[in-house]
Amino acid sequence: MSQLEELERLRETALERLRQVSTSEELEAWRIAYFGKKGAVTQALKAIGSLPPEERPEYGRVSNEVKLALQAAYEAKEREVREAELARALQARAVDVTLPGRPPAAGRLHPTTQTLRQIAHIFAQMGFQVYLARDVELDLYNFELLNIPPHHPARDMWDTFYTTREGVLLRTHTSPGQIHAMREHAPEPLRVILPGRCHRYEQVTARSESMFYQVEGLAVGRHITMADLKGTMVNFARQMFGPDRRVRFRCSYFPFTEPSVEVDMDCILCGGKGCRLCKGTGWLEIAGAGMVHPTVLQNGGYDPRVFSGFAFGMGPERIAMLRHRIEDIRYFYTNDLRFLQQF
Ligand SMILES: [Zn+2]
Repeated sequence: MSQLEELERLRETALERLRQVSTSEELEAWRIAYFGKKGAVTQALKAIGSLPPEERPEYGRVSNEVKLALQAAYEAKEREVREAELARALQARAVDVTLPGRPPAAGRLHPTTQTLRQIAHIFAQMGFQVYLARDVELDLYNFELLNIPPHHPARDMWDTFYTTREGVLLRTHTSPGQIHAMREHAPEPLRVILPGRCHRYEQVTARSESMFYQVEGLAVGRHITMADLKGTMVNFARQMFGPDRRVRFRCSYFPFTEPSVEVDMDCILCGGKGCRLCKGTGWLEIAGAGMVHPTVLQNGGYDPRVFSGFAFGMGPERIAMLRHRIEDIRYFYTNDLRFLQQF
């Protein structure tokens, strides 16, 4: 058989074997058999060197033709095999659309949000509506209209973060909302709670954060007395911490209330005997409160000779800490799931 006839036979057998290939493994075996280092085509191309010079041009032309034809056939087969295998894989792993889906992991409400909602629920039963006010405030609302003029020593209790615009700051308490609410309602009576974020420029410790929540309450109307404030606070403590809670009121000072009180309840851990939680006193502070100062009533648009009111403020984190025996306020906003998932 001549060299050229051998090339033709090589082409035919190669094509015949390629036709029988149906998997990528078989295809790879075919590629190695013909185009591998010692493959038949590779060898045939090398053989040109051993031919007499006059036969070389014709042999070179035909062998190259065979090589190109087999390469083209290989590429076509490769596409065919890939598509067939994909079709088989899709059929084998068909999706059963009747299976129930995998539910996404549901999040949960932050302990502060849970506590805020509970507080709002308790006060709603006593007729208090929720009033939302802004976080960024004017000095005027955060201090001056609340009876804290510039250079008043009470400003030391509420150092805060200031913006680059003069007189604009992050509120240190929810109390500026009292002025907004009163000016919206005056001269009608009102009963609102004002939940929201507050900011203080102070050292972060286990008991104080630079950002925290507050819930403020405000009731203004005719003939509102200290007895209304006491009844409201006692009712709140008993609904939040249990029906047997005792509550006491201690004299205190706030620039925007007169008289002012601190609201304590008997310790939920020791019941008043004295323990670590209550620092041996038997009492836990839950809120600051008082009768709205006449100047503040006037700034809110009410005539203090006709109207009176009470206000109170509490920290939902502190309430949550007491209810769940949480020892460090910094847990609330460090986003540690080990903490958050417990609620
Ligand atoms: Zn105690």
